Amino acid sequence: MFFKKRFESMASAKIFKRPKSLTDVPTHYCAGCGHGIVHRIIAEVVDELDIRERIIAVAPVGCAVLAYDYWNFDTTESAHGRCLAVATAIKRIMPDNIVFTYQGDGDLAAIGTAETIHAANRGENLTVVFVNNGVYAMTGGQMAPTTLIGQKTATTQNGRNAACDGNPLKVLEMLAVLDGVTYLERVSVESPQSVIKAKRAIKKAFDNQLAGRGFSMIEVLSMCPTYTGRSVEASLRWIKERMSKDYPLGVYKDRI
Ligand code: SF4
Repeated sequence: MFFKKRFESMASAKIFKRPKSLTDVPTHYCAGCGHGIVHRIIAEVVDELDIRERIIAVAPVGCAVLAYDYWNFDTTESAHGRCLAVATAIKRIMPDNIVFTYQGDGDLAAIGTAETIHAANRGENLTVVFVNNGVYAMTGGQMAPTTLIGQKTATTQNGRNAACDGNPLKVLEMLAVLDGVTYLERVSVESPQSVIKAKRAIKKAFDNQLAGRGFSMIEVLSMCPTYTGRSVEASLRWIKERMSKDYPLGVYKDRI
């Protein structure tokens, strides 16, 4: 009888629910897009660290421009590429708040390259979540700085060619040499195991800011089925079998 009752109460218990830090609204992201997964990871971490009343997100221009619709905490917007300049100002004016930027590869690694490098080099006490899906998605699937060699996009219809289009920009490898940087890790969200690892890394990046340890960036290899022209399943395989070969997962710097 005891076990029957216990089983019934476990079966009716809600073990998967929406974090307080996520709003209850329909998503605008395409089926299979990685952004929703990364939004949820961040929301779970914010709940677990109990920082919902202290956190301020700076959202980018790109598909995640509407992130403020999904996070149930303060979120502001910056001009394209300027998230880290805005975040620097907010954090310096309100050092007790926890400030992070959420940026795609076009925002962080193209128009915002200067802001990224200088905020990292200054060692700003900030957290950056960098979503790399290898393409400019919001504007129609053009080549991004992180597009792989041979990858077809709207502006590289025969595949990216290094001689003509330059090489993919490896942001974490580039930032690792800067003295101001505390923690850099590249993760992905193509499987349940990788989502668990991604959450651990993002939590550590927020922990670093709470402890005043300086600049942390987590790069997340993410899926854009719509503009990489793949099914959802093929997009997951693409991350695992191709993208993470060119952008190896792992810790690039950890000064803790
Ligand atoms: S276009 Fe790509 S990145 Fe943008 S919402 Fe759709 S799947 Fe996501």
